[in-house]
Formats: sequence, structure tokens, C-alpha cells
Amino acid sequence: MVKADGYGLGAVQVATALNAAGCSRFFVATIDEGIALRQALPDPAAAQADTRAARQADLRTNIPDIYVLNGLMGADNAAEFDQADLIPVLNTPDEIDRWSARGRDDGGRRAILAIDTGMHRLGMSPAETTRLGEEPNRLSGLSIDYVMSHLACADEPDHPMNQEQRALFDRLRALLPPARASFANSGGIFLGPDFHYDLARPGAALYGVSRATGAPEPMRQCVVLKGKILQIRVVDSDSGVGYGATCRVSAGTRLATVATGYADGYLRSFGNAGHGYINNVRVPVVGRVSMDLVVFDISELPQNAVNSGDYVEFLNDRQTVDDLADDAGTIGYEILTALGGRYSRDYIGVSA
Ligand SMILES: *Cc1c(COP(=O)(O)O)cnc(C)c1O
Repeated sequence: MVKADGYGLGAVQVATALNAAGCSRFFVATIDEGIALRQALPDPAAAQADTRAARQADLRTNIPDIYVLNGLMGADNAAEFDQADLIPVLNTPDEIDRWSARGRDDGGRRAILAIDTGMHRLGMSPAETTRLGEEPNRLSGLSIDYVMSHLACADEPDHPMNQEQRALFDRLRALLPPARASFANSGGIFLGPDFHYDLARPGAALYGVSRATGAPEPMRQCVVLKGKILQIRVVDSDSGVGYGATCRVSAGTRLATVATGYADGYLRSFGNAGHGYINNVRVPVVGRVSMDLVVFDISELPQNAVNSGDYVEFLNDRQTVDDLADDAGTIGYEILTALGGRYSRDYIGVSA
């Protein structure tokens, strides 16, 4: 799952690394994300004028599949899907009819059929799925890669909806022509083999985000995030810090001003709540986060241990993306997807 620019980490770099590791199926949310990814991934048959025809002629065995979750997006954009060799996830009967008609004209179109098993977000309702099962010729222009659905409560292992959705998924799939199935997101994978089916769709787990269960998990953190200290000062009399002077500090407090702010996705809700690390010492945010700056109280550190030009670490071995999210009352997903464009980004072990 590399939607939202690979959860904020760079879809091209992430997908290139995953592809090199053997992953050949990618999901994005929008057609624009799909087009950008198609251009970036390897394409041994680039010389072919019509990539879709080339694929159907089986000339392109090593070409990754790119699925677009939001489907045809209510637009007349089927030609763009073909041109970029993207495969839509069809979420409505109308999308199915349009894509199938196009495929009937010239030899079939690959697709994923999405059915809603209880989340009430995207996908065909049980009633629509039942009707489609009764009119199978509507699918005659399609080659169905997978039937898929999505779990609402996968990160709560004991939530009754998990089993309910799985049972409904099996019942509805049985009404459709036989096809492979895709069901589990990251949380779903940990619900056990019954939830795995033919293709899992992990996103968060790839990027080091854990479920909220507190259970041990095998994922490693994959991001180190840090901000540069611009200035260090010792407060000479009791005073306030930052906009609104929301934090009072006493004389002698040592403060470090860091060049990271909410414009970088360092959320405003870290004001008087977030933490960073310097030389393994935990330092608190004092005052509000501003657009480009945030101030930490570094009094805990030995004098002269820190200088301007040094870094405060926001994500490291001691502070996971979930820990950081807790400080702001949010989830790791939002921390990563909010990461701004001003960070200088180094990718380790990726050639893209
Ligand atoms: C985002 C998404 C996923 C991945 O979810 P994670 O919790 O990040 O693993 C899987 N399937 C669908 C339909 C999604 O929208």
C-alpha cells in the first residue's frame, strides 16, 4: 500500500525498494498517484506504444500491477487508466458496467471488485452484490483479479465486527464468479491466517506503525526524524515562551529553538505536549509550536553538551511513530502522512 505518497515517505522510493524485494502489486488511492507511480517503476516494455496491448500479449511479465482504490472516480477517465496501464478497484455497479462495456469491446479489462462488508465507505453493498451475482453477464467484459473488502476494526483483535465482516465477505464472494480474494490490511494480517486470503494489503505495518493493542509486534521503525537547533539561550528571568506565552519558565532554564514547525507536519498539538531526544535525554516542547519553529527545554542536559547546529530527534529508537502520535492525541498514520516537503530526506539502501 503506497497511497498518500507512500504514507508520506515517498511512494516512488518505497515502491522501488519493495519492488526490488519482490513485491509486484501496489495500491494507490487516486489515478494521479497511479500515473506517477507507473512512470517511476521499471518498465522493460516501455518501447511498446500500447502498453496494455503489450501486457495482454504477455510481453510484460515483470511489470508491477498498480491498483487504484478510488476506482474510476466518477470521471470519464477509462482511457487514462488504459494508457498508464492501471487497474481500477470498482466500487459501484455503475463503474462495473462502464469498465465491463469497455472490456467487451476489445478483449477484457482487469479489475478488482470491492464489496462493502460493514465499513460503509467504499464498495458495493450486499444488495448490489447479490443483484450482480444474479446478472453475471454484466461482468463479461472483466477479468477479475480479486474480490476485496476492508476491515473497520482490524486493530482491535477482539472486536466482533472482524468475524462478522469475514463471514459476510465469504457469503457475498460465493455469489460472484470464482476469483481470488483480498481482505486484510496490516491489522487484519495479525488476526490470523483465516483473514489472509490470496493477497494482503499492508500499509502501516510496512512503515513501522503498530496497532494500539500493546501486543509485541515484529515491525521495525523505518524513519528517523530530526530537527536542527538554531539557537540556544538561558532565560535570565521568569518569563513566557512562544506565541501566547502559554508556558512560563524560570530564570536559568536552558532553551533550544529548533527549525521545525507545523508547516513541516510537526503538529501544533505538540505544543507543551511533545518530546524530542538529544543524546538520549528526553526533552519537552515548551510553548506553542509555530509555523517554522519549536522550542525545547534542554535544562536536563549538561551545560555545553548541546550547540546550535546539533539536532533534536523526534523519531528514533526510543520514540516510535506511535509514541510521537500519542503526545499529540493522534495516530502514527497521521504523523507520517503529515511530514512536510521541507525536510531533507535521505533514503538508505534505495537507489531511486
Ligand atoms: C489504506 C488501506 C489499506 C492499508 O491499511 P493499513 O492499516 O495501513 O495496513 C488496506 N486496504 C485499503 C482498502 C485501504 O484503504
